[in-house]
Amino acid sequence: MELQDTIQANLNRIQARIQNACQRSDRALEGVNLVAVTKYAEWPWVEALSQLHHHFGENRPQQLIERQQLLPDVDWQLIGQLQRNKVRSVLPSCGLIHSIDSARLLQKVADVVEQDQQAARILIQVNVSGEASKSGFEPAHLLQDWSRILDLPDDLHVEGLMTMAPASQNPEEARETFSGLRILRDQLREQNSSNGPSLDQLSMGMSGDFEIAIEEGATIVRIGSAVFDGLTRTEQSP
Ligand SMILES: *Cc1c(COP(=O)(O)O)cnc(C)c1O
Repeated sequence: MELQDTIQANLNRIQARIQNACQRSDRALEGVNLVAVTKYAEWPWVEALSQLHHHFGENRPQQLIERQQLLPDVDWQLIGQLQRNKVRSVLPSCGLIHSIDSARLLQKVADVVEQDQQAARILIQVNVSGEASKSGFEPAHLLQDWSRILDLPDDLHVEGLMTMAPASQNPEEARETFSGLRILRDQLREQNSSNGPSLDQLSMGMSGDFEIAIEEGATIVRIGSAVFDGLTRTEQSP
């Protein structure tokens, strides 16, 4: 029970901060959804969290599949790198995939969607900051090839864009990356033909910078460490 109380208190604090950021930026609270990132969480923490929250994010496909089998009612979303040879096995277990980071991966997902008649919901990961260490589509590539990139099966739903800001002690430094993603989304929308995706979802912001992300238009924030603040590990880190 103590575990659940700690997590609930953390969720309450996060929700209050989300609410404040919404007020500051004149946005509706319903327009911002929390994905609780469980990649470093021990299993009892995950179980406790499942009593309190529905949307979880994992960054390793194998761990997502295993945990989805144990807690099938949770909405498991993939936020980390996906190898093409894992697409087929992970698709049935996950809701939204945030991390479609290359044209080759997108093509693989399209192939599996067609061959397996398995619908998929995805975000396109964009390397807005241009760091060599980050994966993701380059903005210029998306703008240039947008209509070709969108040549996808009907059951593959592109719901929006995702990005990560450069690591920094100062959350303000993330603002440019986040506004960059929003501006890119608006540019892509303008290029759409009539049936192009509206790209409603902007997945951006983590424990250290989610308030800035909300001010810049995030509809999904991916928060891990702040959810489990104050808990002590009993196992080795994965
Ligand atoms: C780990 C991770 C997060 C959450 O990070 P915290 O700083 O723990 O909130 C969000 N997004 C991605 C892609 C991650 O890998």
